[in-house]
Amino acid sequence: MTTTQNDLPTHSPDDLLKDMEFQHVPIVSIGGGLGSFALVDRLRIGGVSADDIRVVSLHRQPEQAFADACRDSGMGPRDRLRSDSSARIDNLWGFPGYAAREARETKRPSLMLRSLVEPVLAQPYAPTVGLVQHAVKEESARIGWNHMTVRGMALRVQRQPDGGYVVIVRRRGNRRDLALVCDYVHLAIGPFGPKLTPEAVSFRLKHPYPQRLVHAYEQHSEVYDQLAEHGGSVLVRGSGIASSRVIQRLLEDRERSGQDIHIWQLFRHYHDQPTGPLLGRRDAGYGYAHQPYDYPKAAYGGQLRDTMKRRDESDRIALSRKLGATSTPYRTEWARPLREARAEGWYDALAGEVHEFVALQRDGKDQVRAKIRLANKETYQLDVDYVIDATGMDQQAENHPLIHDLVEQGIADVNDLGCLRVDDNFMVVGSESHSENQSGAIFASGMNARGGPLAPVDSFLGLQSAALSIADVLADHGLGKRLTPARSVRQWWKWMGRKSL
Ligand SMILES: Cc1cc2nc3c(=O)[nH]c(=O)nc-3n(C[C@H](O)[C@H](O)[C@H](O)COP(=O)(O)OP(=O)(O)OC[C@H]3O[C@@H](n4cnc5c(N)ncnc54)[C@H](O)[C@@H]3O)c2cc1C
Repeated sequence: MTTTQNDLPTHSPDDLLKDMEFQHVPIVSIGGGLGSFALVDRLRIGGVSADDIRVVSLHRQPEQAFADACRDSGMGPRDRLRSDSSARIDNLWGFPGYAAREARETKRPSLMLRSLVEPVLAQPYAPTVGLVQHAVKEESARIGWNHMTVRGMALRVQRQPDGGYVVIVRRRGNRRDLALVCDYVHLAIGPFGPKLTPEAVSFRLKHPYPQRLVHAYEQHSEVYDQLAEHGGSVLVRGSGIASSRVIQRLLEDRERSGQDIHIWQLFRHYHDQPTGPLLGRRDAGYGYAHQPYDYPKAAYGGQLRDTMKRRDESDRIALSRKLGATSTPYRTEWARPLREARAEGWYDALAGEVHEFVALQRDGKDQVRAKIRLANKETYQLDVDYVIDATGMDQQAENHPLIHDLVEQGIADVNDLGCLRVDDNFMVVGSESHSENQSGAIFASGMNARGGPLAPVDSFLGLQSAALSIADVLADHGLGKRLTPARSVRQWWKWMGRKSL
């Protein structure tokens, strides 16, 4: 059984510190997902010993949370992600990219050629889920991930009176809690969970069973199984990449099973022509806004990134919302069958917002009625067998008990996106502490640091970019080294030779 933060009893700080094992270590990264991995990888490459790093994680492997999220949203190892070849989370240098690795493993050199001529002469290359997972697994073994991991849940981060922090960990399979006394803490604890809208929550509270309304980021394979066995109707709410994947899965299941599956898709904003100014115009059609990646490429490392850095917080948030507005990449594997579905009349699109879900029975069968306020202000009632909500992740950092507690302690603050307020180096504003013989600070990356200096901070490249900034600050405080060109080349050579660190 998995323990969640909400299952844990609440303790006063003094209770927590009683009967505990203490360990001293310079830096603790909490989360143990790809965000922790990116920072730990960079620190190890910068010469920080594995003995000086602890990672608090519920999982054994850094790719596990990502793999779980992909599986829950219906993606298998062969499905393609939404990154380019060089966004290699396991390779700080980005070269050779995923395309080269896949070309070598599958003996298909054409993949490399494709990544050279994209996006003009070919659709952009994207790595598969399995490729990313395997690559992370290899790199984590190279840097000694297991040696640094403490399996368990961080219950509290407490500031020390003389600078630095204590991270209190409820360990898995160990009755004594662990206190990690450290100078620096890194938070990469990801989203709180799937974003459930008020109307979805209200429906589920009234009708917990059978599951007729599921979220795309929750395990929901039984919905596909039922539809493939009996046919039926389904409403997919949303128009981002998660909804595209759900629809692709439904199209494939319909084709495979031969069952009559009717798909309805609800768009909040229906785009039927390209949007935005001439420069930076977004392609669009049949409701979708199309963009290869979550953000335009220049937001990862080009002029849009510089523009973000120069802005103040409210402008950053406004720009980040604009650049990262819901979109999905154009892919022939789902565009072509969708065209056929429209022509044959078993796919329909609506534009509007659901204001209520109601349970009903028809011919002895449970159904869901979605009351929709259409874009033209009319009300429309749609009765379907299932609803799959693809409305994103809950990014409200304060929903995490750990972060909520930091805010209560006055160590951290949240911005208008509900994420931690960080400075240009991803240091949590208000967390820096100095004393005569100790300094300390908390850093954040991934979804917890949205609204900061980097719009796509919750992406492979964004996590690596944050890791580079954080590691430079730590190097200036004596933990590890900055990556000079000579060190970088030496380390890349070791990486190429798979030499353990
Ligand atoms: C389906 C899907 C597809 C994606 N595709 C792409 C893509 O193609 N390209 C791209 O760049 N990005 C992609 N992303 C985004 C990318 O996966 C994220 O940026 C990345 O996984 C974030 O890593 P993280 O470590 O910040 O968070 P997570 O991976 O969510 O990990 C956070 C971990 O923290 C743990 N945790 C929470 N609280 C505590 C606590 N108190 N103590 C200990 N542990 C705790 C959680 O259990 C979790 O394991 C995708 C994401 C998803 C869900």
